[in-house]
Amino acid sequence: MDKRVLVIPGDGIGAEVMPHVLRVLRALQLPLAFEEADMGGVAIDRHGTPLPADTLAAARDSDAVLLGAVGGPKWDDLPMTERPEKGLLGMREGLDLFANLRPATLFASLAGASSLKAELVADLDILIVRELTGGIYFGEPRGVEVGNGGRRGFNTYVYEEREIARIARVAFELAQKRGGRLCSVDKANVLEVTQLWREVVTEVHADYADVELSHLYVDNAAMQLVRAPKQFDVVVTGNMFGDILSDVAAMLTGSLGMLPSASLNADGQGMFEPVHGSAPDIAGQNVANPLATILSAAMMLRYSLEEAPAAERLEGAVQTVLASGLRTADILPAGADDSSLRRVGTDEMADAVIAALDLAETS
Ligand code: NAD
Repeated sequence: MDKRVLVIPGDGIGAEVMPHVLRVLRALQLPLAFEEADMGGVAIDRHGTPLPADTLAAARDSDAVLLGAVGGPKWDDLPMTERPEKGLLGMREGLDLFANLRPATLFASLAGASSLKAELVADLDILIVRELTGGIYFGEPRGVEVGNGGRRGFNTYVYEEREIARIARVAFELAQKRGGRLCSVDKANVLEVTQLWREVVTEVHADYADVELSHLYVDNAAMQLVRAPKQFDVVVTGNMFGDILSDVAAMLTGSLGMLPSASLNADGQGMFEPVHGSAPDIAGQNVANPLATILSAAMMLRYSLEEAPAAERLEGAVQTVLASGLRTADILPAGADDSSLRRVGTDEMADAVIAALDLAETS
């Protein structure tokens, strides 16, 4: 039976890029059935809520969700609880997507776009695994209260053993399929909750003896990421540290328009989306880079749809297109007069990826 993919184009460049990404996916001729649903601003306009019940139900019934992006100035004045981004949070919660995977891969032809020296990042390939549904962002009690000494703000940093163990297992399994090394990041010298984190990750390691495990304090991990990023293979960490470190790792690769992500639950079902938002400043102009969403689709093929060879084919096609010199505006170096580079729009970039797929098949 065909695997079911729920496609959520969303708003801004999300809705603009998605039809092109679907063209690319269809060109792979895989046994997939695509269904579309609304989420975000478009869902507020059409259904009065950022996450209609039908969309969540369709997501639950699917094997994977492919999301464009949500949000935009039109909905910025709504109260926090009614804004487009609420749809994202609802989807994470509704599908129990606790594992966030953020690869930082640098295609050799884009090494110049990194904020670090090209030799430090050439062929960089790290994967940050962030716990997404627990930790200090969700811990109770939380709030701001007024006491005798003035106002007092507080949050609770809490992890249950089972939450740590399940994200550790995801990370160990990914490390087994990659370079065989896992670095767990904590602040065990100061925070008891992360002492427990370190203990549990170490205990889970007993089941993955083939993976080399190391531990780093988060401050050192941040330093190492910008000093010598290629030392890392897979990094696992909690929600808040992962939020920060995954953005640091993202900058190593240069462009927001190139970064995919995945969020998985315990059944391997996932939501796949570019790291970037709906980019209202460029939406509708055929200039958005579709590669982050195309690479998110490749992650979907690999992690939720058991189509790893197709994922590799797709990533290979992206590499071919970049090596041939095609660039959307965001990955074209400012003031470049390099005649080997050619500026293209969203549609032409997707066309080129499809053409490169055909080449890959016939070669
Ligand atoms: P953004 O990622 O949308 O844009 C930041 C900058 O990067 C902009 O200048 C934009 O033009 C550029 N950019 C982003 N993606 C690009 C691409 N594929 N190709 C070329 N250039 C690209 O972030 P923002 O401007 O802070 O947010 C805009 C809206 O998106 C807001 O409503 C925000 O809440 C929402 N948002 C949604 C998500 C999501 O859906 N997951 C994530 C982040 C932001």
